[in-house]
Amino acid sequence: AKKKGNDNIQFYTEDMHESNLRRLSIEKDLRQAIENVGLELYYQPKVDLRRGCIAGMEALLRWKHPVQGNIPPTVFIPIAEESGLIHPLGEWVLQQACIQNKAWQDVGYPKMRMAVNLSPHQFRQQDLPERLAHILRETGLDPEWFELEITESSLMEKTEETMVMLRRLKALGVHISIDDFGTGYSSLNYLKQFPIDCVKIDKTFINDIVESQKDSKIAYAIIGLAKSLDLRVVAEGVESVEQLSFLDKHHCDEIQGYYFSRPLPAAVFESLLQDRLWF
Ligand code: C2E
Ligand code: CA
Ligand code: CA
Ligand code: CA
Repeated sequence: AKKKGNDNIQFYTEDMHESNLRRLSIEKDLRQAIENVGLELYYQPKVDLRRGCIAGMEALLRWKHPVQGNIPPTVFIPIAEESGLIHPLGEWVLQQACIQNKAWQDVGYPKMRMAVNLSPHQFRQQDLPERLAHILRETGLDPEWFELEITESSLMEKTEETMVMLRRLKALGVHISIDDFGTGYSSLNYLKQFPIDCVKIDKTFINDIVESQKDSKIAYAIIGLAKSLDLRVVAEGVESVEQLSFLDKHHCDEIQGYYFSRPLPAAVFESLLQDRLWF
């Protein structure tokens, strides 16, 4: 039994070793990708159900590794967070998203809100408001057309500091949205006090909204809660017409998901703006 135990331990450590190596090599390659701009932003539309048009888009990072191919953000963002690379990376995303939205506005497309995801570390960075103000000024994008998506769980940590940071960000004139709503543990009290504009219902609730009574009740309750607090409500991960009609029936404001469009490279998103602005 002892021998077997040892084998298991050895097996376990070799596994750990391998995953550490992979992590280190991803970190090294990511550093290089940031320097040589080996990254790209994709854009996924959010459709306004009442007006039937694209109200905005979410910028989502894509990394095509030269050897390993596409590495999903769910893999490299946590590594960027642990290594501190999230700061140059996040800065690049903010800047790129502002440049792109301003460029589309300058061409004459209807004005739309560009949303960017903020990781927990970025949100805790003390000079974030000044950095963002600088980027908005430099790119000339009106803050009204810019939105930050911050996860519910990162907002509910250190709520005093959260309040201060949210107020400083709000003072810039940007929109703020709670991402992955329903998966954290919001206190309704904070939800009421925080200067936020929008909640995004997490896609885990949208998945089974048609089959599961529990999930449809949760989604329904979140929509009601958001409305009662005068917040815009967005559903993410909408893939079917059945999900869409449920959300439409219950007056969800905006829909994001494969049903309308996957996240698209800038040039393809732009052709969407030309053909399918109205749904
Ligand atoms: P998120 O912010 O919750 O983004 C939504 C995710 O759902 C995206 O995955 C999107 O591609 C995917 N999605 C959209 N519609 C559907 C649908 O109908 N069905 C399904 N199954 N999925 C859908 P993605 O692009 O892989 O991003 C994963 C996560 O990585 C994001 O979750 C976000 O937390 C993070 N992330 C992505 N880009 C950035 C970034 O620029 N900065 C930071 N800090 N995080 C990012
Ligand atoms: Ca998001
Ligand atoms: Ca989300
Ligand atoms: Ca998520």
